[in-house]
Amino acid sequence: TAKRKGSGVVVYDPAIDKTSQESLSLLSELRRALERDEFMLYLQPKLDLASGEVIGAEALVRWVHPEKGFIGPDNFIPFAETTGFVRMLTTCMLEKVARLCSELQTRGTYLKFSVNLSARDLMDQELPATFGAILNRYMLSPTAICLEITESAIMDDPARAQNTLDRLSRMGFALGIDDFGTGYSSLAYLKSLPVDELKIDKSFVMKMEQDQDDAKIVRSTVDLGHNLGLRVVAEGVESEAVWFLLRQMGCDQGQGYFMGKPMPVDRFLEWLQSWRA
Ligand code: C2E
Ligand code: CA
Ligand code: CA
Ligand code: CA
Repeated sequence: TAKRKGSGVVVYDPAIDKTSQESLSLLSELRRALERDEFMLYLQPKLDLASGEVIGAEALVRWVHPEKGFIGPDNFIPFAETTGFVRMLTTCMLEKVARLCSELQTRGTYLKFSVNLSARDLMDQELPATFGAILNRYMLSPTAICLEITESAIMDDPARAQNTLDRLSRMGFALGIDDFGTGYSSLAYLKSLPVDELKIDKSFVMKMEQDQDDAKIVRSTVDLGHNLGLRVVAEGVESEAVWFLLRQMGCDQGQGYFMGKPMPVDRFLEWLQSWRA
């Protein structure tokens, strides 16, 4: 399932059948990358749309490969999910986020960080304990962390997902539904899961200025979320016009290239200073 493009970059191609040497070697490359700390934490700012205040950031992984250079998550996360390796990656990302978050708190900066979970993470019975241990190590409250889950990850095995999410929620983590609107037609899970946040998929947000249907979908989703008592976040905010539209609709938070692209930690901290200035 893994192949190499002309550039030598390892890409995941679900169309190609595998059991091959190649997917084995990609898995061993991923393991080595973890040992060598080649997975880098990138942060994309999340803002309050009414006040422009920075709420925090979403953690997004980048693989900085010694020879192949910079590899984006879409090129290895799907493969990491099929092999279960993604659980190691999730733990690694939470660890980096927790360390940074607690370090910032000692300097008086209180930010919320979002970490992406995959379907595989939700199947892992040990996950809540693993996460608890990491937070203890950094003496960090789980309320500083929002865990983002896609609808399709929940639908893989709804009963087990519910069990894991209930436990994480009881520990104090905030939970968000990612890519909302792209997954399943059933909304039933919204009433049984301990969800705090709906994140409207960027495919609806990016073109909402030109496309009336997209705008209506966004508006309805904001209302749906608010009627259920949830916080609503829009991703893919690429212009000031879209920010204003979202604010008019009462959308709570936004994230997108207009405010800031995903960036390494030091650049994020610089961005934070200049945004606040
Ligand atoms: P996602 O969780 O939906 O993350 C949002 C993606 O949208 C990011 O892509 C981000 O760079 C991009 N984005 C943000 N604002 C804009 C915008 O204004 N315009 C456009 N066109 N795009 C925008 P990225 O970083 O390439 O990540 C892709 C996906 O890979 C993520 O989608 C997530 O599903 C997965 N991913 C990334 N990091 C992790 C991770 O640490 N763990 C797991 N399990 N998945 C991850
Ligand atoms: Ca996300
Ligand atoms: Ca998303
Ligand atoms: Ca996505």
